Amino acid sequence: MINRYKKYLEIVDAGFKNILKEQAPFIKCKKGCSYCCKEGEYPLSELEYVYLMFYYTTLSDDIRAIINQNIDNLLKQNRQKFYSCPFLINDECSVYAARPLICRTFGLISIGKQKSKIPFCVDLGLNYASVYDKERNAFIWDENDAVVPKAYNIDRTVLRNNEKAELFDINFGEDKALVEWLREDYADKAL
Ligand code: SF4
Repeated sequence: MINRYKKYLEIVDAGFKNILKEQAPFIKCKKGCSYCCKEGEYPLSELEYVYLMFYYTTLSDDIRAIINQNIDNLLKQNRQKFYSCPFLINDECSVYAARPLICRTFGLISIGKQKSKIPFCVDLGLNYASVYDKERNAFIWDENDAVVPKAYNIDRTVLRNNEKAELFDINFGEDKALVEWLREDYADKAL
């Protein structure tokens, strides 16, 4: 299953690469910017969690020690939401290649059930801030503009159930917040 999931991720990532290329004028994401990883819930499926933790075992002892300390601190806080991801080290993702699907959607506009979800960093003057009018809750652009802000069907529930997931026969399993997976996984482990 892991190998099939890796193949699936390659295709998903190629799609994200194209979106990021197209939306580049509005994207301010850069190395060291980690707002998305500091106040989230980070829901992910069992498969995503297993892959993430498999990748974690390939990291150096030093990195794993930092992550373990972060996990320990997080679990002591007893939080469900609005926590810093324990895999974030010095404002960089230590498990970037195996990050969950939701992390791959960070910074982009996603088509939601009722309305599009705009990345929260728009309020920090970052992604899409140059074309977003907060008071009117609307984007400002001219149809003659070479690139316009666009929402994509990238909600993680959509990504999990699209034709690519079907093609590779991916069974994602149940969903939980990252902290819940960690709480369950680390309940019997001495960090
Ligand atoms: S897994 Fe990586 S990208 Fe996702 S929230 Fe954690 S540090 Fe950020």
